[in-house]
Amino acid sequence: MRFSKKILILYYFFSALFKTVPVLFFKKKWVDSLSKRKLKTCLQLSKKSSYYNDIYEKQNIDTRFNDVDQLKEIPVLTKKLFRDNFSNGVFVKGEKEEDQVQQSTSGSTGTPLRLIYPLRTYIYYIITLVRTYFIFGYRPWHHIVYIKYEPVESADQFKLGPFFNAYFIDSKLSPQERIKKLKEIKKVDLIVAYPSSILEMCNVLTEEDKKEILPKFISLNSEAVTKEQKKCIVDAFHCPVYVEYSAQESWIIASECKFGNYHIYTDNVWLEILDDSGNTVPAGQTGRIIITTLNNPVMLLIRYELGDLGSLSDKACSCGLKFPLLKEITGRKVDKFVLESGREHFFLDIMLLVYKFIKKYPDRIQMYQFEYFGANQFEMRFIPGKQYDNEQEIQTLLDAIQDSIDEPIHIKTKITERIEKGPSDKIRYFINSSCTS
Ligand SMILES: [Zn+2]
Repeated sequence: MRFSKKILILYYFFSALFKTVPVLFFKKKWVDSLSKRKLKTCLQLSKKSSYYNDIYEKQNIDTRFNDVDQLKEIPVLTKKLFRDNFSNGVFVKGEKEEDQVQQSTSGSTGTPLRLIYPLRTYIYYIITLVRTYFIFGYRPWHHIVYIKYEPVESADQFKLGPFFNAYFIDSKLSPQERIKKLKEIKKVDLIVAYPSSILEMCNVLTEEDKKEILPKFISLNSEAVTKEQKKCIVDAFHCPVYVEYSAQESWIIASECKFGNYHIYTDNVWLEILDDSGNTVPAGQTGRIIITTLNNPVMLLIRYELGDLGSLSDKACSCGLKFPLLKEITGRKVDKFVLESGREHFFLDIMLLVYKFIKKYPDRIQMYQFEYFGANQFEMRFIPGKQYDNEQEIQTLLDAIQDSIDEPIHIKTKITERIEKGPSDKIRYFINSSCTS
């Protein structure tokens, strides 16, 4: 790396630290006004994008943007719109190409999207993520282990003497191999992983392993996780487990604090919850999660629909952070299914029943996947555990699922040796083949 680039990275690094860490100690009104100021800058900048300019002209929007509420006049940006208009100006031109970092989404909800960040944004995103770990209790001299499907490129760039030590373990390895690798790393303080990766490891973790692997905390990301799953991980590793809510388009959006509440990092994203007609829903009510990214001046995502569902909370948290709260993240929009009667259900409710079952009858189901074909027809594919003998043993689970749904459904069961994983090696617990959106 060129010396001048190293100096630039260091400059961005310290500037991001200076911009992000003090916010943890801000009063609520300072946090709110910082977020509003950033949103206004973003709206001003959007005038440089032909995509947004066309919208402003067509809808006669006052582009002085004196009031942040004007955001609500801008139509929601779906992934399809983003894909179709990317070259046409959602991307604000004028930044030097060589300074930009390119990535893409995993494509778990369709075709991958190409994402562009200026180097300073990329570094800012890394620092906001590290700030999240800091909230969990991480300190620069701790050792982080990422269990991911691909190495963390930035991990090496930030190693400063004894600080910011990071290791990578390939999530595609078998759970036993991952545990072996974890034991080889002498000091493990923070493990960052997908819930499914860690849960697979919990199933094969021996008492001996538990004595050797002693993380201070575990951070989960990228997949929905139920309270029961979280508890399984807490019990196996004997440490606090926190959930991060992030997207590749924006990086960190929210995370749990020490009190188990989800704080929205409003200095990184502006978050709205909308109903199906595009109206803001009141706190406590579930709706579509829409974000505006506040730190990427090159690729503006204004009112971008992530495809997740969630609800806001109007309560305050006593942990000291003044960021507002998300009551819950209910799951992906596609993780809903519609029965013959027209009633909608969340797959997460079924997932919860499976985990209650696994807890009560350990080792009957090792891994599973549901598929919904429409017309109340499901298939449950599973890898049987050591205690599995015959189909009768999972009948309790099938009965519980039927009881939770008001109309007759049919679940075909199928034993398999392998569960197909989605892009980025993430487990897909639910496939909705009836859903084309
Ligand atoms: Zn809190």
